[in-house]
Amino acid sequence: KLHNTILELKGNIRVFCRVRPLLSNESGAISYPKSGENLGHGIELTHNAQMYAFTFDKVFDQLASQEDVFIEISQLVQSALDGYKVCIFAYGQTGSGKTYTMMGKPEIHDQKGLIPRSLEQIFQTSQTLVSQGWKYNMQASMLEIYNETIRDLLANNRTSIQDGGVSKYSIKHDTNGNTHVSDLTIVDVSSFNEVSSLLKRAAQSRSVGRTQMNEESSRSHCVFTLRIFGVNEGTDQQVEGVLNLIDLAGSERLNKSGATGDRLKETQAINKSLSCLSDVIFSIAKKDEHVPFRNSKLTYLLQPCLGGDSKTLMFVNLSPEVSSTGESICSLRFAARVN
Ligand code: ADP
Ligand code: MG
Repeated sequence: KLHNTILELKGNIRVFCRVRPLLSNESGAISYPKSGENLGHGIELTHNAQMYAFTFDKVFDQLASQEDVFIEISQLVQSALDGYKVCIFAYGQTGSGKTYTMMGKPEIHDQKGLIPRSLEQIFQTSQTLVSQGWKYNMQASMLEIYNETIRDLLANNRTSIQDGGVSKYSIKHDTNGNTHVSDLTIVDVSSFNEVSSLLKRAAQSRSVGRTQMNEESSRSHCVFTLRIFGVNEGTDQQVEGVLNLIDLAGSERLNKSGATGDRLKETQAINKSLSCLSDVIFSIAKKDEHVPFRNSKLTYLLQPCLGGDSKTLMFVNLSPEVSSTGESICSLRFAARVN
């Protein structure tokens, strides 16, 4: 049986698939209809003697570099400066390369991910637009959603995060389509260096207090938001764009060996919010009148930035390992639904 998903572009939603390279001791299970290219549209897997084929807007193979990937999204990033609302998600099981794709290793030049590259580009471009009369103000925030609870990753007072509590953050949307998360730290940023140090601070916050639950970060959604306010003093034009870059929680199913208690609750919360995200994107693609934004914190938070004339890109990250094939097919089906 052949599962084939016909490439179909729906509105402003795009799906890119990226397969990470094999790490040592892994053996691969993924093939590409056209070998020798690191960018195509199709991907094929064999699982339990069945062949699965999927088609997406773009498929990056093991050889695609961080730069190869960025080249394909730089225009989308750029559109946030033109006043668009942009969301870029990374979806996939833990270990599939989501964080590598989004953040990468910012300190190593060719391993920088989409977040540092995007910010670099935005600040560079905004500088060049000064000569045309544009002035920009930008604000950054970074939060994580864990078990349907929001945590501020830029709060100076890190104890609240360490204590694991904090659910007081509430989300409100105003009539201008702006989102407010009460008490969330919002930082004015005017250079790449400033925002880069925020990213470091957030990464620290994310890992603090994680000794008992050492992989907790893989079970939370991490949302970086840059708001861009542009004014042109010559022409009186104004733009307000938003760039959201989201490293989603690991999509893996519950292991049969049995999660109980907190771990079970956690997995259920992840599955619920990921399926809500899929429902929302699917429903936007179908142009439904009612989009179920309110069913999860993540979709409610991003409501003004999904749908309408906003732009959404979903990366589905895959591990090429044979033992991950089942999960990979689940991820591909998820992505095929929103594609
Ligand atoms: P996830 O965030 O989905 O759990 P990671 O991004 O942490 O996965 O990736 C798992 C491992 O694979 C990390 O060691 C990471 O450095 C490596 N990795 C992921 N993608 C790539 C890639 N495209 N090239 C090289 N190494 C990668
Ligand atoms: Mg990760």
